Amino acid sequence: SAGGWSIEDSLTELKGLAETAGAQVAGKVIQRKAKPDNAFFLGRGKVDEIGMLAQNVEADLLIVDDEISPSQQRNLEMSTGLRVVDRTALILDIFAQRARSAAGKLQVELAQLRYNLPRLGGQGLVLSRQGGGIGTRGPGETKLEMDRRRIHGRIHDLEERIAKLKNQRQLHRAQRKNSRIPTAALVGYTNAGKSTLLNALAAGDEVLAEDKLFATLDPTTRLVELDEKQELLLTDTVGFIQKLPHTLVSAFQATLEETVEADLLLHVVDASDANYELQIKAVMEVLQEIGAQDKPSVFVFNKADKLPESEQDNEYVAARMLQGRDGVVISAKDEQGLKMLREKIKGFFNQGQVTLTLCIP
Ligand code: GDP
Repeated sequence: SAGGWSIEDSLTELKGLAETAGAQVAGKVIQRKAKPDNAFFLGRGKVDEIGMLAQNVEADLLIVDDEISPSQQRNLEMSTGLRVVDRTALILDIFAQRARSAAGKLQVELAQLRYNLPRLGGQGLVLSRQGGGIGTRGPGETKLEMDRRRIHGRIHDLEERIAKLKNQRQLHRAQRKNSRIPTAALVGYTNAGKSTLLNALAAGDEVLAEDKLFATLDPTTRLVELDEKQELLLTDTVGFIQKLPHTLVSAFQATLEETVEADLLLHVVDASDANYELQIKAVMEVLQEIGAQDKPSVFVFNKADKLPESEQDNEYVAARMLQGRDGVVISAKDEQGLKMLREKIKGFFNQGQVTLTLCIP
């Protein structure tokens, strides 16, 4: 366990992630061991147990809730007959499916290639045994099958393009600062509904954005009209997951930077997920890692439409969810509660202005 997560919590999260990636979870095996085994990561007894369980439930994939070395992965595959992926590969797979911005896609592909390079088999092909499925999908459904030489070339190419985008983003940020339009960043666990909310709040911003010469903005930043007079630039961010491998934190640094720079965070939570408190915790840990833990934030409990009818529009249920946190309960999909959310955001910025005036001597 790490960061105060019990093994059970972590496996519950892993199951959710595996399902998000399209796997059906058939069973779990827990290993309590002070030190991972050099050759197999797991103890031999557990390896046998897994082989047997896999036969019983007809599984073909083993997901290990940790980062394992390429040789441990190969050894596990040989002895269990299963395809083996670790937590990092699973997370990369999910991010590959969900990366939306150009920068996000490049970052995910780069992280995947770097991850796969030491895992190349003797044939010099990545993951050639199996086509589709977890660990073999790149951004935009491209297949990750390449030989070593081409991978090196592609990595170099991606690094250059990411560096260029980074400069562009700095330019855009400077422009936005000049525009004095307040900024907010959407944070929240994968699948909470961040991009759905961004689309709902920014509906019709294309025209507005053009007027304001924001046509060159990264598509994940959109202009939101809070009312006729007040506007907000809202950015979507990826990369919120428990135990985000450090290699990935740096890969997503560029998008996470937007979070650190924002005036306000909107923390989107899937209120219909039984494990939402765990997910909030995971997001807070990433925020801490990038130094954004003390940013003012508004909690947005989303997917209210999926709650039992008796729990919808119910202030007791809302109070129980919020637990003293500042926030609202909404449905981004049905566009319920968006007015309340806009008011909340406006309240935050207007209050900010008052404080600012008082502070000036
Ligand atoms: P993100 O990973 O946080 O950006 O999440 P997405 O916006 O991609 O949403 C994840 C999934 O949840 C999608 O299938 C959405 O259609 C769905 N979703 C988002 N908001 C709502 C909502 O308010 N109600 C319901 N029922 N589904 C939603």
